[in-house]
Amino acid sequence: MVNINTISLNRSTLERLLTYYHFINHHHLQHSVGGTISSAQIAELSGIDDTQIRKDFAVIGVKGRSRVGFIVTEVVHAICHALGFDVTTPSVVIGAGRLGGAIAAYKGFVKQGLNIAALFDINPEKIGLIIGDHVVQPLEQLDIIIKQHAVRLAILTVPAGAAQDITDRLIKAGIKAIWNFSPTSLNIPREIIVRNERLAVGLAELTYHLKQNSQ
Ligand code: NAD
Repeated sequence: MVNINTISLNRSTLERLLTYYHFINHHHLQHSVGGTISSAQIAELSGIDDTQIRKDFAVIGVKGRSRVGFIVTEVVHAICHALGFDVTTPSVVIGAGRLGGAIAAYKGFVKQGLNIAALFDINPEKIGLIIGDHVVQPLEQLDIIIKQHAVRLAILTVPAGAAQDITDRLIKAGIKAIWNFSPTSLNIPREIIVRNERLAVGLAELTYHLKQNSQ
C-alpha cells in the first residue's frame, strides 16, 4: 500500500493525472463494461504513452491486474485522493470582474473539491450583485467570512496594483494558498502556496508552434 501523503508529485505528473481524470470522466468510463480500463485505452484517448501511464498509476498506488487492466473506480479514487479532490477546499474569490465573476459562476471546479464561500469586490456598484450563486460582498466582510468558513484558498482576480495589499490581508486572515490571476508577482511568506496562473503561457505555446510550422 502506497501512502500518498508521503509522495510528492511534480507538476508534469499532476497535469497528466488530471488529464487521465478528465478523459475518464468525459468518456464516462466509470460506467464501462466490467469497470476496467487498460493503459493502452487511456493512451489512445489521451495521447500519453502507456508506459508513462502505468508509471503514473504506480506512483499513486494503483496496480493493474493482468489481462484485466485497471479498475476504473480505483483509478478515479486514487487520482482524487492524490490531487486532493476528495476534500472540500473552502475558498474566496477577490475581484468580482469579468474573470472573477466567470470563475465564481463556473460549477466545474466543484468536482475538484472547490467550494467558493464568497466573492468580494471593492467597487460599491458591484456589491450586492448576484453572480452565479453568490452575492458580491464588501471587503469589510473578508476576515469574518474567512474565519466562519475556515477558508484556506483565495482566488485573486483583482488588477495588478491591488494584488499585494489584498494578499497581505488574506494571509493575515489565515489563507494558506493563492491562485493568482493578477499579472504581478506577489511577495509572500514561504509557507504560503501560490500558483501564478497565466493564460498567456498557453497562448504563447500555440503561437510558437504555429510559427514553427509555418517556417
Ligand atoms: P475587471 O476589471 O473586469 O475586474 C477586476 C475587479 O477587481 C473589478 O470588479 C474591481 O472593482 C475589482 N477590484 C479592484 N481592486 C480591488 C480590491 N482592492 N479589492 C477587491 N476588488 C477589487 O478585470 P478582469 O478582466 O476580470 O481581470 C482581472 C485581473 O485578472 C486583471 O488583473 C487581469 O489582468 C487578470 N487576468 C489574468 C489572466 C491570466 O491568465 N492570469 C487572464 C485574464 C485577466
